[in-house]
Parts: sequence; structure tokens; C-alpha cells
Amino acid sequence: MGMDVHIFWDHRAPEGLARSVSRSVTAIAGLTVDVHDSPLALNGYNGQRRQIDAGVVLDNLGTLMRRQRIQGPVLLVVGQDLFATGLDFVFGLARPQTRASIVSSVRLSNEYYGRHPCDEDLVERLAKEGSHELGHIYGLSHCNNHECIMFNPHSLDELDGKKKEFCQVCSAAIETGKSAISQRITLDVLR
Ligand SMILES: [Zn+2]
Ligand SMILES: [Zn+2]
Repeated sequence: MGMDVHIFWDHRAPEGLARSVSRSVTAIAGLTVDVHDSPLALNGYNGQRRQIDAGVVLDNLGTLMRRQRIQGPVLLVVGQDLFATGLDFVFGLARPQTRASIVSSVRLSNEYYGRHPCDEDLVERLAKEGSHELGHIYGLSHCNNHECIMFNPHSLDELDGKKKEFCQVCSAAIETGKSAISQRITLDVLR
């Protein structure tokens, strides 16, 4: 049986947390997840902003997935700050067309806000934001329920206010998305 989702862990992402994040994503989203060291060299660094262009990384990740016949979905975890066109920063980004997604640990860490470091907090936030981006890959949009994983948080406090679960509406939608994607993957393999 193949895994539902692959997590690619960049070498600059926080060490030692990959297993805990993958277990938590499984608990939140009901997906089987395996973890690999990321095979992708990160491009898209903007020296003026000291950030990486998440769109460029997702372009490159999509290309790598196509070449290596990785069906996805893939969640790439990186340790550098991300921006996207028109936005000062993003916690993460998803591209449903190629089933590629990315999340950064930088603004999910207590240190960034001058608070005491805590691995547990970081694991929980990475799992929530990772599950959120995967939700987009499974076809979900943002949700108005502040406690739902698909709520779009604009601050760390809003992120921490979300529960580690999808609301009822989004839970039903993600199940529909899962079967749609597994059917498409079966067709791709047969093709
Ligand atoms: Zn979103
Ligand atoms: Zn919801």
C-alpha cells in the first residue's frame, strides 16, 4: 500500500521533529504519511527580502515530482522564511494542480516572537499548517470557523486558536477529495 502523503524535510528545517509532525498530520487529517529527507535544492531566494519565493519552490517541486514520478501529495517543510507574490510572508502555500505544498517553520517558532522555544508548540503548528496546505490539495477552500484547520490565520495567536481538527463540513469535503485524488492517481498509473 502506498502512503497518502509524502513529507519532504529540508536539511535546514528543525532537526528531530519530522516523525512527530508526520504522526500529528496523520491524527489531524486521517492520512498515512511517510517522511524523507528532501531531495529538492531550494531556489527562489530573494536576498533583499531574505525570504524564499514559495511559488518558485512549488514550481521546482512540481517538476521534480513529475520527473521522478512521485504522485503526491507532497508537503515540503523548510526552515527559511517564505513569501508569495503580493504577500509580505506566508506560513505555507499549496498548489493543488501538481499536488505540491510547502510550509515554513520560521514564523511558527516561539523564538521568532521573542518567546521561549518549545518543540511541542512547533510540532503542533507545523502539523496544523501542513494539514491546512494538504487540505487545499484535497480541494478545500478557507473556512470561516476559527477553530477549523482550514481557517486562514493571520497571526500566531489565530493559528494557536485553531483546534487540531477539521470542522464537520471540511472533514466531509476532505474525504471526498481523498477519493477523487486516489482515482486520478490510479488513472495516471494506468496511463
Ligand atoms: Zn490556506
Ligand atoms: Zn472548516
